[in-house]
Amino acid sequence: MIHEMILMSKITEQLAAKMVKSSMMKIEDSLGRRFEKLRISLLNECNFACVYCVSEDFGSNSVKTIQKSTADQPLAPDEFTKLIEAVHRLTGLKSIRLTGGEPLLYGNLFPLIDHIQKIGISDIRLTTNAYYLKEKASKLFDAGVKSVNISVDAIDQDIFNGISRHPNTSRVFSGIEAAVKAGMNVKLNAVIMRGKNDSQIIPLLDYATNQGVKIRFLELMKMGHLYHSENGLFFSEKEILDIIQEKYTIESIQRGHAETAHYWQTSGGGTFGIIANESTPFCHDCNRLRMDSNGFFYGCLSNAHGEKLSPYIYDDVLLTEKLSGLLRLKQPVKFHGSELSMRNIGG
Ligand code: SAM
Repeated sequence: MIHEMILMSKITEQLAAKMVKSSMMKIEDSLGRRFEKLRISLLNECNFACVYCVSEDFGSNSVKTIQKSTADQPLAPDEFTKLIEAVHRLTGLKSIRLTGGEPLLYGNLFPLIDHIQKIGISDIRLTTNAYYLKEKASKLFDAGVKSVNISVDAIDQDIFNGISRHPNTSRVFSGIEAAVKAGMNVKLNAVIMRGKNDSQIIPLLDYATNQGVKIRFLELMKMGHLYHSENGLFFSEKEILDIIQEKYTIESIQRGHAETAHYWQTSGGGTFGIIANESTPFCHDCNRLRMDSNGFFYGCLSNAHGEKLSPYIYDDVLLTEKLSGLLRLKQPVKFHGSELSMRNIGG
């Protein structure tokens, strides 16, 4: 009798495991979208205060924090790791991007990278303003961070300092060059704004080409303090292409699955992309999930309401439900803006 009961409970366990496994398969929406990439805003703090990211009322401190989170501490590496591990178990994440805020200001960056590797996710990428990259590029590369996106909005120092509201953006360039030297796969990101840095498209493209790296130009997104604005600084994909074509002939490169950018090759030997949320939206195959520095998850950039997953990490059925709910928040076609700044949600 006892033997039969043990057998029954084993069968029930196996059935439950099978159900979880089959529900795992279902974290996919009607457009076939799944969570394959996780972006984590390690902290809201940033040493830059870029005009597209935060409003002017940040005072004159060089390290500025967003109002909402000044009382909150970012999660510790083991807290991040538990959440990542649970999500990975159910979704089979392919890569993780560490961002912020400024991720190089996160004190426990290297222990966190180590934890993530131990979970079995080896594709770990970083998005940074590169101010502290010169000192850290080689160590990051050795720790397993082979790919880095660097924000650089102008070559002209006055323009760049003005956009970043930081007096010394020259360090960004030594950071870029150190990352290239360390062997990292480097991509540059520039948000193009009318009248602010549209003059910098060609200088940025030529700098990237000289460094042998790709650059992506971003259309300005209505996020955070820009959410209710007229978006008068918006500079379109077409306008960016027109400027580049005055100097170079360009050839389109086929867009890869879930890529945010469409890429072109130039007759000058460079490769550039445009992330055109407005002109050429790319929500239809979005595979990104985001986590903020307090452990709230976001299924879609257009949705400002985060979900805390920590209560569900030991319950695969509930966690599957929660993740499926987050996936359902994805827009079918295009980004609609968000009250959250990229600094909160992780750019
Ligand atoms: N501090 C890091 C950095 O500067 O790269 C990481 C965080 S930052 C929020 C990441 C990216 O968000 C930047 O590359 C910037 O291009 C993008 N971003 C922030 N606000 C944006 C907006 N309103 N429109 C378009 N891109 C934005």
